[in-house]
Amino acid sequence: MIRILPEHVINQIAAGEVVERPASIVKELIENSLDAKADHIVINLRNGGKGLIRISDNGTGIAPEELDQAVLRHATSKIAKIEDLDHVLTLGFRGEALASIASVSQMYLESKTSTSNSASTITMDHGRIENKNTAAREQGTTVNIENLFAKIPARRKFLKSDRQELAVIVRLIQEIALANPAVHFELNHNGQELLNTPPRKSLLEKFYDIFPSPDLPGKMMAIEQEENGLKLQAIISQPIIKRASKGQQMVAVNQRTIRDYRINKTIEDAYHTFLLSSEHPIFFLHLSVNPQEIDVNVHPRKNEVRFEHLDHILSFIYRSVKGTLEKQILSVNPSFNSKFEIPNAQLSPTSNFEFRTSHSPSNSVASPSNTYQAAQFNQLFTEETPPRPIKVVSQIKNSYILCTAEQSLILFDQHAAHERFIYEELKKTRAQKSTQQLMNPLELTATAEQSILLAEQQQNFANFGIQLEQSGPNNWLITDVPNMPRSYKIDWSQVVLNSLDQVHAESLTHSLQDHEDDILHTMACKAAVKFNDHLSLSELQRLIDDVAYLPGIYTCPHGRPFRLELTFNELDRYFKRH
Ligand code: ADP
Ligand code: MG
Repeated sequence: MIRILPEHVINQIAAGEVVERPASIVKELIENSLDAKADHIVINLRNGGKGLIRISDNGTGIAPEELDQAVLRHATSKIAKIEDLDHVLTLGFRGEALASIASVSQMYLESKTSTSNSASTITMDHGRIENKNTAAREQGTTVNIENLFAKIPARRKFLKSDRQELAVIVRLIQEIALANPAVHFELNHNGQELLNTPPRKSLLEKFYDIFPSPDLPGKMMAIEQEENGLKLQAIISQPIIKRASKGQQMVAVNQRTIRDYRINKTIEDAYHTFLLSSEHPIFFLHLSVNPQEIDVNVHPRKNEVRFEHLDHILSFIYRSVKGTLEKQILSVNPSFNSKFEIPNAQLSPTSNFEFRTSHSPSNSVASPSNTYQAAQFNQLFTEETPPRPIKVVSQIKNSYILCTAEQSLILFDQHAAHERFIYEELKKTRAQKSTQQLMNPLELTATAEQSILLAEQQQNFANFGIQLEQSGPNNWLITDVPNMPRSYKIDWSQVVLNSLDQVHAESLTHSLQDHEDDILHTMACKAAVKFNDHLSLSELQRLIDDVAYLPGIYTCPHGRPFRLELTFNELDRYFKRH
């Protein structure tokens, strides 16, 4: 027998999508408060939100005669027709949150507008109205949720421990607070204050309020940029901050917190040459986009949006983040080497070579039990003692170069170090656009698929200094190549084909510039000495003279470290000489 389901059952089913766990309720209720223009929102929780969720705001409130409506499904004051979705500026618009939440809990709601004399209240039990009344309160709304999922054991049993549910909520409120820096949020759990974020003008200050980790002050950078009507505000960590997880990466669009792996990946990509692949930056990124260029109605919990100009947005993000990182690296690092003259370089070497081999705590003192791992890449050069030459002692396993400096032993990975040096040189060559024509063009044989890609990328290669001419369906000639700083032997057809592979594998196309970066990486990799190449002592010393003084650079272009440093101080401690 087919029957129309009663309203409260329909709501309970709909709640399956909207109300997954306590955090989903917190999110919907805070969004309602923000939509009601509240600038002070207080959240009280018990037992990770499973015992109680109470959210009070000082927003516009709900008129007494509309209170019944507000808790009905498909009841909203925010849109009236489908076209309104095109320019929706509120966080809510589906008109189902209150009804869904009410259907799976006991809800008490009180609200007062500026014009009513007292607040109106409504008490509901799993979707049924139990009681209506009035109460005294200031303008604003309080929603109180208890006994969540009491009658829906299938849901209740999927909830995690109090602590885990709480962690999700805290993280959510941190994100929302960053996305709405002018709003004062207070969060209390079992009577204890967890968060209190008074309004701040500066996003950076707000960030430090919300994330008071002791290692962060002074290490976060603010970005503010605009391009083609797109505004980007971000707080990003300097590469010196390395996290083992991606837990502190947050994105918002038009005050709405969202999940978008493409944006996160783009930012991680921008850190590519600064961090190892196992290390992750911290960031909060806020985009302001014309509401007509996004679709917010793609997810019942509204934590995804669709972008009309995704490629441009990703490219803009990538360029902004990478540019900021590059500028920072240049500004904090001393220029030891006249070859790398950096205008206005501030000398602050102490912040410079703080670099560790592992995630071990920075104060781990090398003792016989914690072996080599604890060795730190230590600061070698200080302002008082100018750098002394680093001397090669020997090559180890045809792969590592052991050196001594004034105060330390240093090991280099010969391939990774050399690769980085060539990469930096190539960047300069590229900037100068210096190329050379080959006396005898190089022949390159490609597959049909490669040929199509080559034709597509021909201009990219040309911009970089590699001129390609098609000489047959699958045959090409390389006529011009970039001027190399030294006489490195480079197999240019390998470079071209390898670069093609990378461009091909990269599913997210960034700007042209990013492809050029890939090409640079490949060229540097091909031109560098290999991991098993035997080198003479003088060749080794020349290599070390090239790579040892790269300012502020510790990794190969792919992000692997290339130098390990052990100070004599650490050695002395290890051998108990102190
Ligand atoms: P939506 O937010 O999608 O409109 P909800 O079910 O979340 O749907 O809320 C229904 C309506 O109740 C809202 O459109 C709004 O008019 C009103 N409302 C809910 N919460 C508040 C609040 N905290 N302050 C003022 N009005 C509110
Ligand atoms: Mg809502």
